Amino acid sequence: MNLNKYKDYNIVEHVYDVVVVGAGGAGLRATLGMAEKGFKTACVTKVFPTRSHTVAAQGGVSAALGNMGEDDWRWHMYDTVKGSDWLGDQDAIEYMCREAIPSILELEHYGLPFSRTKEGKIYQRPFGGMTTHYGEAQAQRTCAAADRTGHAMLHTLYQQSLKHHAEFYIEYFALDLIMENDECRGVVAWNLADGTIHVFRAQMVVLATGGYGRAYFSATSAHTCTGDGGGMAARAGVPLQDMEFVQFHPTGIYGAGCLITEGVRGEGGYLTNSNGERFMERYAPNAKDLASRDVVSRSILLEIREGRGVGPKKDYINLHLEHLGPEVINERLPSIAESAKIFANVDVTKEPIPIIPTVHYNMGGIPTNYHAEVVTLKDGNPDHVVPGLMAIGEASCVSVHGANRLGSNSLLDLVVFGRAAANRAAEILKPGASQKDLPEDKILAILDRFDKIRHADGSISTAQLRSKMQDAMQADVSVFRMEETLKDGVDAITEAYNEFKNIKVHDRSLIWNSDLVETLELSNLLANAMTTVVSAYNRKESRGAHAREDFPSRDDENWMKHTLAWLDEDSGEVTIDYRPVHTYTLTDDVEYIPPKERTY
Ligand SMILES: Cc1cc2nc3c(=O)[nH]c(=O)nc-3n(C[C@H](O)[C@H](O)[C@H](O)COP(=O)(O)OP(=O)(O)OC[C@H]3O[C@@H](n4cnc5c(N)ncnc54)[C@H](O)[C@@H]3O)c2cc1C
Repeated sequence: MNLNKYKDYNIVEHVYDVVVVGAGGAGLRATLGMAEKGFKTACVTKVFPTRSHTVAAQGGVSAALGNMGEDDWRWHMYDTVKGSDWLGDQDAIEYMCREAIPSILELEHYGLPFSRTKEGKIYQRPFGGMTTHYGEAQAQRTCAAADRTGHAMLHTLYQQSLKHHAEFYIEYFALDLIMENDECRGVVAWNLADGTIHVFRAQMVVLATGGYGRAYFSATSAHTCTGDGGGMAARAGVPLQDMEFVQFHPTGIYGAGCLITEGVRGEGGYLTNSNGERFMERYAPNAKDLASRDVVSRSILLEIREGRGVGPKKDYINLHLEHLGPEVINERLPSIAESAKIFANVDVTKEPIPIIPTVHYNMGGIPTNYHAEVVTLKDGNPDHVVPGLMAIGEASCVSVHGANRLGSNSLLDLVVFGRAAANRAAEILKPGASQKDLPEDKILAILDRFDKIRHADGSISTAQLRSKMQDAMQADVSVFRMEETLKDGVDAITEAYNEFKNIKVHDRSLIWNSDLVETLELSNLLANAMTTVVSAYNRKESRGAHAREDFPSRDDENWMKHTLAWLDEDSGEVTIDYRPVHTYTLTDDVEYIPPKERTY
């Protein structure tokens, strides 16, 4: 390769069959699967694999195993379709709920240390929106390793990936996809430790870069959740799907934003307002505190708005688990007790935890089919596959979660579609197949962008601009939305997007340059924020997590469709189009579930 212009950079080239970007639950499950299928597989990750955000997942992973009473994957499918407020693709949901069972048993065999029932089976707890007999009774479907399920999952999958000789590039920051004629040919990454630039050629690149919670001021996600995959996809001309659907978790610790798992309510915890009233009984008479997350978050904010919030500013709600007793708490929720002590100075065996809804999950992302292949709308075909590119996990939008994700369905989506990616690759690729030379001009363009940001000498700091974006997202694209505030949001985020051209990077080095890392991350966050706010402004109905006060009802006639948002990198302009929701199932084992009103 002749990249003379960048002779100061030390450029290293690699050839793999498959490169997975990201080593969270999704990335590791795909890495392990690809290696197991005989592909020469690299996993590129900006943090050490077991530090990925998946490590923080507490509550568990759903699968209709029926270890604690009757269950059926078709009930799981029904709950997921209903939870999605009928925006989920039912073929993909069928695939996920059915494949959940073998996928979880596989994890057990890989060595994941699940909590156990007396008979030695995997322990399962109740979670919001999960029922048996199509909504009749609460299901116990969420498989748990105490309140550290994600931690256990990451360690298990990392060990298995090493066992299958996958190669890891740890603390490498992926910069951009190498695209040629709308096909993905590889990816360029920067080694954070020694400053070298790595050009990966691959038959398949799998984006598993996680969510973009950090576009908001208060989020339960790690500071590394900056939507880098969405940024890369957008720059590669791929649209982002359903970005307006941002999940607020009802129970973030007041002030700190750290998560208190829904598992707490699954184990019997409940919410009260300043009158000590269990208000969820009014909003969701059947499911009560275990209604789905969008419903509980809105109820909490309505209580606060009507003056029944707790505390001197009447701006939070209490979550009780004192009544569960120290034994249950120590056995099933040990980390929660610790987090509440550290972040709220609360002894959960004696007093309630102050909580407030906090950004938690991104339903939107890079559109894919249930094989994990990235799809786009091209020449009228809404399912056009982008060759050489897959996306999985929170970075993707399959769409199994539709307008609202049910708790414990994300860890499930990671393993089911990580596994599906490997299965699909085995069908369409050949290990060791020869690959064309990479297009040099495209690599140069990626280095140009990187070099320009590295030497950026404007007048606004990364931290200042990031705050501006986060404050606007928090204020204007929140739990409740309306025309005026969304319009303010579009203006504020457009301004922030354009101000990036005036960014100042203080550190010009290539070695452990956290200033440059954060600036690159900010550019990705801005791409996600921009598409989110425009998509939210555009959707004139309420569905799942998208609650418009000016359009309070769901409008299936006009809006039962996926939003696609293309970003023009230079101008920041967003173009909107749509893909139809898949209103069919994959097999005859189950029928399409037609839309109806969603109550809990
Ligand atoms: C506090 C918390 C608790 C949760 N609890 C549950 C739960 O109990 N059950 C459940 O189902 N869901 C839960 N969720 C949601 C779920 O954990 C996440 O959606 C899921 O873990 C995301 O996994 P992922 O593999 O897609 O990405 P992540 O785990 O976020 O990993 C992203 C990976 O991408 C890499 N990466 C990102 N950008 C780059 C780049 N530019 N270059 C190189 N590498 C990059 C990172 O290094 C990392 O390895 C929880 C989420 C949070 C925040």
